[in-house]
Amino acid sequence: MDRRRLIAAMGAVPLALALGGAKKEPKPKPPPEPRAARRRKGAKAPAKHVDVAIVGAGAIGAWTAWHLARAGLSVRLFDAYGAGNGRAASNLPSMMLDPVQGGDALYAALVDDSREAWQRLSDTASLPILLPCESLTALTATDMLAEPRGVDRVTGARLRDRFTQIAWHPDETVLHAAKGAMIAGRRAVLETILDAQIDPEDVVMPAPLRDKKQDVYQLPDGGTARSIVYACGAWLTELFPQTLTPARLGAIRQQVFHFGPGQGDTQFRPPAMPAFVDRAYGFNLLPDAEGVGVRVWKSAADASVDPDSFDRRADERALAEARQWLGTRLPRLADAPVVASAAAHDCRTMTGDLLLDRLPGQDRAWVVGGGAGRAFALAPAIGARVAAHVQDATRPVEPRWAFARLTGNPA
Ligand SMILES: Cc1cc2nc3c(=O)[nH]c(=O)nc-3n(C[C@H](O)[C@H](O)[C@H](O)COP(=O)(O)OP(=O)(O)OC[C@H]3O[C@@H](n4cnc5c(N)ncnc54)[C@H](O)[C@@H]3O)c2cc1C
Repeated sequence: MDRRRLIAAMGAVPLALALGGAKKEPKPKPPPEPRAARRRKGAKAPAKHVDVAIVGAGAIGAWTAWHLARAGLSVRLFDAYGAGNGRAASNLPSMMLDPVQGGDALYAALVDDSREAWQRLSDTASLPILLPCESLTALTATDMLAEPRGVDRVTGARLRDRFTQIAWHPDETVLHAAKGAMIAGRRAVLETILDAQIDPEDVVMPAPLRDKKQDVYQLPDGGTARSIVYACGAWLTELFPQTLTPARLGAIRQQVFHFGPGQGDTQFRPPAMPAFVDRAYGFNLLPDAEGVGVRVWKSAADASVDPDSFDRRADERALAEARQWLGTRLPRLADAPVVASAAAHDCRTMTGDLLLDRLPGQDRAWVVGGGAGRAFALAPAIGARVAAHVQDATRPVEPRWAFARLTGNPA
């Protein structure tokens, strides 16, 4: 409750007492019962021989496992560092579900299904997984983005009174989506795996080992899988160095800062504060949720890194840039303290697109990763596509996501 409403509510008490003075005192309510456990059903012990083995328990692997398990297939989910680990790209505490998707219709078409899936998960979780917020995309002077359904084109002048936290140029063009959202990053991945009732296994998986006689893939403990899905993000280059050279797919570094608004300041929380993609200045922002501060990160990567070994501390130069942007766009936060910061990695292909295709020369080994900057929030829809391919070998691969786009060779 904000200060004004609190004072108003306090002021109303004597009046309510005076009016109710003649009435009988209601019986005091009994204290509330302790909360019933809302834990999801436990996972079954994994069978050794399964329909599908999934390598990588980040957002994409988790949702692929979820869809396959819901379709009735037996699944094993492996992760070299464990599900929800600190090195995975999916480890950030909050992620943006951006309805605009840079004006790219291929990805914008995945937003509604993903949002619905996150919402369903959120509805049954103990803590919210999806937090609705409005979403704004400020365009550059030369941007020709088409606005997807549900997105309006407005000017900065129109937003001045509405979003006073942001300094608007009156004639700049901004795309406004009423239905944006934030997803609770790492927690959302763990919740997806719990909901799929799968027990992830901490195993470093090798490149596929096919048993030609039985027509299955061998697993390190002697088990087998009919199909295998590699959803290992930036680690795909480690597993397939010949095909996925660092020039074709790699780990890029981006630095993230959480700036803490002042005590009791709700102006930077949803619903007052929108998510903000500032293409004009090359920065992004997520509102303060769960008190973790306003998250700010630069759109462009600042280095190529090794996801196993790079130092995940943010540096002073990146902080100075983030503060400079705040000074321009959110002046009230320009001197706000940093309450958390990190250097994180994302997985980017040379085309900037997702990779979702069969491993060249393998009928039932799939590779999925990349899609930098958006693959977390769209993971429910991406996972559904992977699951559909696994179940239907005749389903055509999306040409923009094909291996051939990276290698130049038809698979
Ligand atoms: C600063 C920053 C901000 C971002 N913001 C957003 C955002 O707002 N919205 C959004 O949608 N996206 C965002 N992204 C992108 C998002 O983080 C990624 O696209 C997404 O998390 C990728 O998920 P993934 O499952 O492909 O990979 P990962 O989460 O990296 O998972 C891969 C997993 O594979 C495992 N693995 C690797 N090799 C092996 C092996 N041999 N055997 C077993 N396991 C293995 C790893 O341990 C890891 O857990 C952001 C990225 C960055 C860096």
